[in-house]
Amino acid sequence: MPPQDEASVFVKFWGVRGSIATDGEEIMATGGNTACVEIRCGSHLLLFDAGTGLRKAGRSLAGEGIKTFNLFLSHSHYDHIIGLPFFAPLFDPDTQCAIWSGHTMGAMKTQALVDALLNPLFFPAGAGMFRAQVRYCDFLAGDVISPAPTIRIATARLDHPGGVTGYRIEFDGRTVAYLTDTGVRSHEARQACLRLADQADLVIYDCMYTEAEASERVEFGHSTWEEGVALCEGARAKRLALFHHAPERDDGDLAGLEQLARTRFIGAFAARDGMTLSL
Ligand SMILES: [Zn+2]
Ligand SMILES: [Zn+2]
Repeated sequence: MPPQDEASVFVKFWGVRGSIATDGEEIMATGGNTACVEIRCGSHLLLFDAGTGLRKAGRSLAGEGIKTFNLFLSHSHYDHIIGLPFFAPLFDPDTQCAIWSGHTMGAMKTQALVDALLNPLFFPAGAGMFRAQVRYCDFLAGDVISPAPTIRIATARLDHPGGVTGYRIEFDGRTVAYLTDTGVRSHEARQACLRLADQADLVIYDCMYTEAEASERVEFGHSTWEEGVALCEGARAKRLALFHHAPERDDGDLAGLEQLARTRFIGAFAARDGMTLSL
């Protein structure tokens, strides 16, 4: 149970993997759910991405009696959206849920993205199965949005096939940057990451690859822990969460990468399913 203080900022990682959910004894300490992060600003519940981690988040948060949600999609690749039809609060008529996206730059509205995911060819029931009061919210990556008067969220388009939105969440003097699924080739995207991460208390960053791996897989649009460290140093951020771990990365691999990252940047750590932080 997180702190209930109106000024508290609480972060919980519900899913930290990229690409596809995974399981097995060798990944027990890290977890195998795909991207989903809760950022609780006072009493406001924000969720970033709807990967498989969203399922567990939904059951837990509904159990807490939470009835109002804002869910922000970085983009609509499967590993960031597949948990949506399994999000229990969407089946509660007393719940209000706003679903936000901006990565298509207006080419496809949020409601159309959800409808596409729930097309009968891919999923048995459409969005009509939801019983909650769902509000679909559209913005353009680069806009500043505000789901509540005390919360400011700056956004930017990063570098990923199909587009992706990076988020900077500001609340009561604390800042978290959520920067996942972004490549390392674009100067504009790097500059955007620096702006969004500027002096942040926490930067959650796409560390799918190592530098050696990234050079062979540039078309997938992912980054490295080395880039994450350079970003946090350049932005003078306090902590770096290595995030969006490759599915084949086991607990031992990840502990090794975490240790390496820490030798370069003391605030670095590997995000793991279930991990919580207070800022
Ligand atoms: Zn992804
Ligand atoms: Zn992606």
